[in-house]
Amino acid sequence: MSNSFIVKNPATGEALATIERDSEEVILQKIATGNDAFQTWKKTNAHERSKLLSKWSTLIQEHKASIAEVMTKENGKPLAESLGEVDYATSYIDWYAEEAKRLYGRTIPSHANGKELIVQQHPIGLVGAITPWNFPAAMMTRKAAPALAAGCTFIVKPAEETPLTTIRLVELAHEAGIPEDVIQCVSGRGRVIGSLFTESPYIKKITFTGSTPVGKQLIKDSAATVKSVTMELGGHAPVIVAEDANIDLAVEQTIITKFRNAGQTCVCANRVIVHESIVEEFSKKLAERTKKLVVGNGLDQKTDVGPVINKGSYEKITDQIADAVNKGATILAGAQYDVDHDKEYYFIHPTILTDVTEEMDIMHEETFGPVAPITTYKELDEAIEIANNTPYGLAAYFFTDNYRIGNYLFNHLDYGIIGWNDGAPSAAHVPFGGMKESGLGREGGIEGIEPYLETKYLSIGNLYE
Ligand code: NAP
Repeated sequence: MSNSFIVKNPATGEALATIERDSEEVILQKIATGNDAFQTWKKTNAHERSKLLSKWSTLIQEHKASIAEVMTKENGKPLAESLGEVDYATSYIDWYAEEAKRLYGRTIPSHANGKELIVQQHPIGLVGAITPWNFPAAMMTRKAAPALAAGCTFIVKPAEETPLTTIRLVELAHEAGIPEDVIQCVSGRGRVIGSLFTESPYIKKITFTGSTPVGKQLIKDSAATVKSVTMELGGHAPVIVAEDANIDLAVEQTIITKFRNAGQTCVCANRVIVHESIVEEFSKKLAERTKKLVVGNGLDQKTDVGPVINKGSYEKITDQIADAVNKGATILAGAQYDVDHDKEYYFIHPTILTDVTEEMDIMHEETFGPVAPITTYKELDEAIEIANNTPYGLAAYFFTDNYRIGNYLFNHLDYGIIGWNDGAPSAAHVPFGGMKESGLGREGGIEGIEPYLETKYLSIGNLYE
């Protein structure tokens, strides 16, 4: 088996770099080094860690243009989105540079004289992170920043499609003064590194963003050493458009949540559920707007939608379109493909499907591509039932100007992230994560640092009163 792999530009098929996979020996050595480094890093004070994180963020911003270009080349997303992702990535570092200084403990009023009860937060230890290709910068900093801020050491394995952005970010962390063995990158196949991480007694926490099947495997394997896990897994987001919704707003926000990153985000709209009285107007407007999106190489400034990541994705997405059409769906926009199998690039034009029913695969399988299926409802409870009819529970969206409908939807949708008249709810200072099979734990916000901390309780007795 080859011990190297080629990183390719998904828009052109061009080879960008050849990366050596670390041998098992090297990976185990890096894990041991990360564990040794923890013994000193955990003793640094919070203000020192905060300064180092801020320096890291500043350096990333200074190299923003080149990082964004690398990201567009390896991932395919439009350059404007890559620039936005660099900002999004550093927003997590900035947030946790501040949170490092606020890891307060507490003193609990005692139940007995001469006793004091004290609670402190301590870093959990060496963290093993595995990240996906769709947000190569932000998915890494969303984990690394709280881990380092808490006093943990960190070792990351990026997806083989997009390792270059992560490698660059780790180099910049070292340039900022964060010791080399405190934040490390390993290269290799996910299943190999996943096993080495979960089996290692040195790694105290696994944090993973990726597909639900891989997440389930990592949870299972982490049980052997009772590791803490944070899992950001798949999604199948519904968008409910109520009878009274501002249709133009709903169309614009659906475009944002559906077609960003060519539909390859875990919080992407995967089902659009529209009240039957407005479905015609909504679908027409959405299709007209969708047809204006420019498909192409992300480095071209005119491009709105880049390629999908690889052949496997292309086949899954086009199979879902074919299945829907075979079962009676109508194509209102898109469903054209610009493909070169030899050069290995795959473009799918943003697609709108109507007359979609529950029997179609697209209503149940994560699409991870630029296809919006539209279905209808009569009563609000029917919309909620369709929306919740999935093992996923990551993000949901709804559009209504009626506060009673909005409040009812918020309370009855089984989702961890909800956008009300908002297709872009994510930010560094809010909790991000899913219910049901979409994951365990939250990233971002004050919640996002808790998984990197152990609570230690001290009871002191026999004190002078
Ligand atoms: P994936 O196939 O699960 O891969 C994600 C990462 O896991 C890659 O680094 C991959 O490494 C590694 N991996 C693969 N098999 C593994 C195994 N058996 N053990 C350990 N690691 C393994 O997912 P993907 O296709 O790259 O990413 C898309 C998925 O991520 C979607 O389901 C999406 O919804 C989800 N996602 C979720 C969030 C969230 O916050 N909830 C955010 C973004 C994406 P290789 O390099 O070997 O492939």
